[in-house]
Amino acid sequence: MTIAQSLLALQDTDQSLALRRREYREIEVELASEGGLPELRDKCEKTRKRELEAKVETARLESDLATLKDQVGELETRLYGGSITNVRELTAIETEHSTTRRNLAQVEESIAPAEVAAEHARQQYEDLSKELEEREKSWETRKVELRLEMAKRGTVFNEMLKARNLEAAQIPEEDLARYTRLFRSNRGVAVVRVDRGVCQGCAVRLPVGELTRLRAADGPIPCSCGRALLTE
Ligand SMILES: [Zn+2]
Repeated sequence: MTIAQSLLALQDTDQSLALRRREYREIEVELASEGGLPELRDKCEKTRKRELEAKVETARLESDLATLKDQVGELETRLYGGSITNVRELTAIETEHSTTRRNLAQVEESIAPAEVAAEHARQQYEDLSKELEEREKSWETRKVELRLEMAKRGTVFNEMLKARNLEAAQIPEEDLARYTRLFRSNRGVAVVRVDRGVCQGCAVRLPVGELTRLRAADGPIPCSCGRALLTE
C-alpha cells in the first residue's frame, strides 16, 4: 500500500469513527434528557399547585359568603326588629347593610368563575398526571434500549479505534501528523483525490507543474487551497 492509499483508508476509518462518535453522543444526550420527563414533572407539579390554590380560593369565597350572609341577617334583624331608637343609628345601620349586601353580591359573583378555574386546573392536572405516567412507563423501556445500544456502540467503537491505531502506526510519523492536523482543521477531510487534474476538495484545476510534482512524489502533496493533501 502506498502512503496515499494508507492515508485514504485511515481517513475512511476516521470518518466512520467520527460518525459513530456523533451517534454515541446523540444517545448520551437523549439519555440525559430523560425523554423530557423533568419538564413534564415540573409542569405537572405547577398545575397541581394551581389546582390547590384555586380550591383554597373557592373555599375562601364560600366562607366569606357565609360570613356576609350572617352579617346581612344580623343587620336586617336590627333594622326591622324595632330596637333602633334614633335616626343616626338607623342611617348608620342602613349604610352598613347596603355595603354588606354589595360585598355579598360581589362574592356570589366570584364563586362560579373560581369554581370553573378550580375544575379547569383539576382536569389539566388529571390529564398531565396520566400523560406523565404513560411517558414514565415508555421512558423506562426506552432507557433500557438506549443503555444497551450505548454499551454495544461503545464496544464496537473501542474495537474500531484499536484497529485504527494499528492502522495509523503503519504510516510514517510526519505524514500522519500532517494528516491529523488537516483532518481536524478541515472537518474530517485531509486527503482528497485529484480527478482529471482537478482537486476534488476545492474544485481547482492543478497547474501542470503541480501535477508533475504529484506524480513524482512518493506520498500526497499539499493542495494550494491549504485544506487538503492530494493524491491520484
Ligand atoms: Zn484543493
